[in-house]
Amino acid sequence: MRKMNNVKNQIKNNKKRDTSNIFLMIFGIMFIAMIGRVIFMGGNAPVPTQNGQMVAPTRPIELSFSDVLRRGDEIKTMTINGSDATGVLSDGTKYRATIAYDPELLTKLADAGTSIKIDTSKSWVESVATFAPLVLTLLFIFWIFRGLRGGASGGLSRSLVNQNPTKITTGKPKTTFADVAGIDSEKQELSEIVDFLKNKDKYKNLGARVPRGVLLSGQPGTGKTLLARAIAGEANVPFFAASGSDFSGIIVGLGVAKIKEIFEMAKRNAPCILFIDEIDAIGQKRSTHSYNDQDREQTLNQLLIEMDGFANESGIIVIGATNRPDMLDQALLRPGRFDRQVYIELPDMSGRREILDLYAKKVKVSDTVNLQDLARGTTGFSGADLENLLNEAALHAVRNGRDQVTPDDIEEARDKIIMGPRKVRKMRPEDIKLTAYHEAGHAFVSLMYEDVADPIHKATIIPRGRALGMVQHLPIDDKVSMTLAEVRANLSIALAGRSAEEIFFGSDKITTGAESDIAMATRLARYSITTAGLSKKVGLAAINQVGTFGTRGALENASEKTAEIVDNEIKAWLDAAHADATKHLTKNKKVVEKLANELLNRETLTGEEIREIVFGKKKSTPKSATRKNAKVKKQ
Ligand code: ADP
Ligand code: ZN
Repeated sequence: MRKMNNVKNQIKNNKKRDTSNIFLMIFGIMFIAMIGRVIFMGGNAPVPTQNGQMVAPTRPIELSFSDVLRRGDEIKTMTINGSDATGVLSDGTKYRATIAYDPELLTKLADAGTSIKIDTSKSWVESVATFAPLVLTLLFIFWIFRGLRGGASGGLSRSLVNQNPTKITTGKPKTTFADVAGIDSEKQELSEIVDFLKNKDKYKNLGARVPRGVLLSGQPGTGKTLLARAIAGEANVPFFAASGSDFSGIIVGLGVAKIKEIFEMAKRNAPCILFIDEIDAIGQKRSTHSYNDQDREQTLNQLLIEMDGFANESGIIVIGATNRPDMLDQALLRPGRFDRQVYIELPDMSGRREILDLYAKKVKVSDTVNLQDLARGTTGFSGADLENLLNEAALHAVRNGRDQVTPDDIEEARDKIIMGPRKVRKMRPEDIKLTAYHEAGHAFVSLMYEDVADPIHKATIIPRGRALGMVQHLPIDDKVSMTLAEVRANLSIALAGRSAEEIFFGSDKITTGAESDIAMATRLARYSITTAGLSKKVGLAAINQVGTFGTRGALENASEKTAEIVDNEIKAWLDAAHADATKHLTKNKKVVEKLANELLNRETLTGEEIREIVFGKKKSTPKSATRKNAKVKKQ
């Protein structure tokens, strides 16, 4: 206990010193900013060209506000910073204009396909330079104030790093529900919002209360942003997007100002969608009361005020997205705020099929590619992963001079996404041989349990990522639970690689290559015994506290005696599985050898080929030279 406290104090002291350094740093930055401003104010100095003549750099042309309104069609890009607008015309000319806020302007430009960016960062840099002395004084006061309160959290230093410009993108998206696949019930749920945006008056006349806020939660890449854009696209209203992480800044109150700003903009352009990604960055539960949290709390409060503030019928729908809904402050979820919550799951098999179908239309895919099989083999892939997979496959096809995506390209892309890029490392022949027997062991025992466990998809000795080889299984459908028999089968399959090494190379030649197999088997056994209640000896008690973020939890709810029983039970299960695998392989040594040799020959065998070799439906596998070389040493 005492040691712990000492450590804490040390950390605190360090942090205090850090803070004063940060303070000096800020002072330096301000100083440079002030000087920089003076220098750049005199900007546009003549520059020498190649032939030595001095010419003025091309200045942007000046447009008046009415010019902008009139020539809207010619404007290609526009970055708005307060009342300053800069960008290029469609002929490449740079321009500068002073504009007034006019919703019609934004709509007009958006309709003309202008890419608009609202940049609030630069204005802040400028104001910092202008008001540096004032800000410095304020910072100084805050600094002292923090020192007095004894709270140190490194808030400033973190904010400094996070200081990124708020980019609010806008325009009317062309995205529609047709671009979102595999999540029909979610689309259904959100179509009411579309209807409301389209027919505001119908709802108003009826006096119906329409949600102001919708919270989309789900893992990254499940299409939250896409769905929000599609709602705007379906309703044909402007879409404003900002990210929660943009709202924390170096200066206290910056977040509040930014929230005000985006809501102002939304109000001027209603009906519209205001999308806030990573809303957990603002809306996190209040925990400690450090300096940083106070600022965030103010930002959160401002968000709540704004959401309570606009009239229901104004037609602003705020859509928040998060992958940690559990982290959100309850205040955000009250009626009138984000009272509509839609959880987007990772797509299931039919969802994956639909997403694959959607993107397969955009690349040339050969008829020989079976998208249903691919959907089966991509459990856990998000929509973004699936899109990425087809794209990777297309790239692979191009690299190999094909004009169509073939099953090979798909396999390559899938493996790449699962396991990282193909390894090009040279392997020693004896390592390859051992790997072949190891994988043959997995494959053979898999076949013994095909009626219980997942059917085998392929076995390979081509190294990828950290794996020297692997055996893949294809689940028949999305699994949510396992039977006890299945658990035992999976344990045997997992430990069969090591068994094969022992049987064919001798127990002193076994390798560390089985590391991940053993880890996997131990995890599965531990989970079954301590969490899923599958062990008779331990019973139905849940004694494993699974740690956050998937770390192995301690046996928190177990007495020392129980912990011992658990340890023994895990060992007993693993030993039994190992013995089982060894039994199967010893009994069928010849076939396993054949399988290993075929792997050495062909490097990769499909599930079908493996079945053929083992069950000998067609006894036509050609003998080859390498087979002779691969003669194994018996135990
Ligand atoms: P999130 O916001 O949930 O992290 P995104 O909407 O940014 O995910 O998804 C990234 C990309 O993945 C999308 O632009 C789209 O191309 C693709 N995608 C994700 N989910 C789907 C889906 N259900 N249907 C079609 N495309 C999807
Ligand atoms: Zn293995």
